[in-house]
Amino acid sequence: MTTSKRLVSAALALSLGLGIMCSCSDDGLPALDMNVQHSDIYVERNEAVGDDFIMGVDVSSYFSEIESGVTYYDFDGNVLDNQGFFDLLAECGVTHVRIRVWNDPYDSSGRTFGGGHNDTDTAALIANLAGNAGLKVILDFHYSDFWADPSKQMVPREWADMDLEQRGDALYDFTYHTLGYIADQGADIDIVQIGNETTNGFCGYEDWPSMTSLMQRGSEAVRDFDGSIRIAMHFANPERENAYSFYADQLNTYGVDYDIFASSYYPYWHGSTENLTEVLSYVAETYGKQVMVMECSWSYTLQDGDGFPNTIGEGSDGIENYRISPQGQADMLSAVTRAVTDVGSAGIGICYWEPAWIPVEVACREDGTIDNAIAESNMILWNRNGSGWASVFADEYDPDDAGVYYGGSAVDNQALFDFEGHPLESLRTFHFIRTGTDAPVPEATSTPTPTPVPVTAEGEVVVNGGFEDGLNDWEITGFNTEDASSNARTGSGSLHFYSADGSDDFTAVQLIDLEPGTYEFSAWVEGGDSGDSDQIGVDITVNGTIYDGHSSVTGWQQWSQIVISDIEITEPTTVSICIYVHNPTQGVWGAFDDVSMVPS
Ligand code: CA
Repeated sequence: MTTSKRLVSAALALSLGLGIMCSCSDDGLPALDMNVQHSDIYVERNEAVGDDFIMGVDVSSYFSEIESGVTYYDFDGNVLDNQGFFDLLAECGVTHVRIRVWNDPYDSSGRTFGGGHNDTDTAALIANLAGNAGLKVILDFHYSDFWADPSKQMVPREWADMDLEQRGDALYDFTYHTLGYIADQGADIDIVQIGNETTNGFCGYEDWPSMTSLMQRGSEAVRDFDGSIRIAMHFANPERENAYSFYADQLNTYGVDYDIFASSYYPYWHGSTENLTEVLSYVAETYGKQVMVMECSWSYTLQDGDGFPNTIGEGSDGIENYRISPQGQADMLSAVTRAVTDVGSAGIGICYWEPAWIPVEVACREDGTIDNAIAESNMILWNRNGSGWASVFADEYDPDDAGVYYGGSAVDNQALFDFEGHPLESLRTFHFIRTGTDAPVPEATSTPTPTPVPVTAEGEVVVNGGFEDGLNDWEITGFNTEDASSNARTGSGSLHFYSADGSDDFTAVQLIDLEPGTYEFSAWVEGGDSGDSDQIGVDITVNGTIYDGHSSVTGWQQWSQIVISDIEITEPTTVSICIYVHNPTQGVWGAFDDVSMVPS
């Protein structure tokens, strides 16, 4: 904690409690009109959404945005003060505000790591405004000094030298005291998340016995603080075969006490809503848990607003799932809500991730090009106020990711406010889902681009390289064709791998008789959660000479090509192609497709 940070917090605190009074119902929320609403976007009423259904938003970056000079407006164009912003959320049908908590998101000189610098003080400011607006709070403990997600779960620096038991005690104390501090702001804490997207680790540990023992300490702290607060465990990648059943089984096996199994769901990465319903239903029914979607979002434009590239833009995979418009955002929210209510009464809610993380200053021109001078001045604000996803100072803690890729908002085109801070009609979807709207049903979107059909290259020597004929013609260890279609690059077959505990070894071998010549080999691979690039690859053996190619994997349907050129065959011989995943990282998954070898 630094002096400058305290001054900022004090200044912001002065503005608390000045909110607009509204006509409120018993629970503090505005009394919303439950008749069919007038709108220019179409939303079908979901009659399965009950009074208690959670319509959440995560606006953790809010204060760093305000500190950077961002202005938010209401639907009439009036400038909102801090309380007015949270009141607007409530008027749009939001019921919960999700707030992330980092232990100490500052460098050794007290400079912000960015991402909203959500320490307990910042979280408390947001919780206070949420409470005044009648909104309940979901606290999202990362138990890290910065972002924790499937790619990293770094321990807070202060706890780094502690053993497991000491770290558990520290985690308990931090949880208990933070809850007290937040509750003192007048916040109504409904849900506490023990960890954020703890798919591959938790608080510096990657083995389930250690992870779950720390999770249980967090759970105990919440129960001891207030037995009425619900405890959520949060994971990502519902599309990964057997992943959620595995996580839920680990939590059960090691005795973690929790109420809600929560999932991230980004439609461009995380499979179909039908699959989401299926995997959440399994956990709900098998373990008697409530389930919800803790993060989701969708783009209303493919334009970048602030000069820092966005996660989703032109050419991104999966953007055909919904329209790229406020209507598309409403359609996504409706579909995700439906996926949760289809679970039944155990499906308790949804939460939109960072709908207010807009450009600190708009850097894109009307023609879509970026004004570099504004982008550069934005960088100063991101670094000073923490309003980008990571500041240059995060290098000290997270050199490999934030230290390299620091910058602004990668989700400004997925906000529910436009680049200038005006609310989009889609912000009202949270209310509309309970009422329906009077807009005409939009024309059906063009059906998603069909998966391309495999083309057999001239001179192709690999048989069944597209796995359209299952695993025939391959000698298989470990690999399978489950989920082959959802993981296929072309057609409906693929060569799938998943190692829950990292003990598996995968090989797919084909022997091919070749005539003399020069050949080029190619294969495509997608997937995630591999620790390094060496474990996934291909060996081609020609008379004792091994040609090796390998690739890391970066996500579902994010295809990387492995190319091996200039394979010289001097006399007729039998060549071995061996596709492999050796010494896999715990949880690694993915698929190969379109394996090809042709004369070059
Ligand atoms: Ca951006």
